[in-house]
Amino acid sequence: MDCLFCKIIAGEIPSTKVYEDDVIFAFLDIDPKAPEHIVIIPKAHIPSADAVTADNCGDIGHLFSKIPEIAGARGLTNGYRVVNNCGEDGGQTVGHIHFHLLGGRQLAWPPG
Ligand code: 5GP
Ligand code: ZN
Repeated sequence: MDCLFCKIIAGEIPSTKVYEDDVIFAFLDIDPKAPEHIVIIPKAHIPSADAVTADNCGDIGHLFSKIPEIAGARGLTNGYRVVNNCGEDGGQTVGHIHFHLLGGRQLAWPPG
């Protein structure tokens, strides 16, 4: 499958891994929007948040269960933001569901 993030999981495209288990993979964003910017993805190719179903939501639940551990390992002791961009209006540019973990500075709200 011609998917950038599936290729990152497979190691065909290099990335800086920060966490991996049987279900999820987390790596540093190539174009960070904050001092800490980690991308967390399920290994299963789910195209977007709009494709989450009763059958695949267990992987997403597992992903969220690991966010405190990943954030802690990255030193995000003062809070952070988890972002999912979905579809064209949501600003999604890679068609494999992913969650941005952002922190290391005070983040503005609302986003643009
Ligand atoms: P989206 O815009 O779809 O929500 O997020 C995609 C993210 O993937 C962007 O923040 C972008 O910087 C990141 N990204 C795109 N290509 C690569 C890559 O080849 N390596 C890494 N580490 N991040 C990437
Ligand atoms: Zn994929």
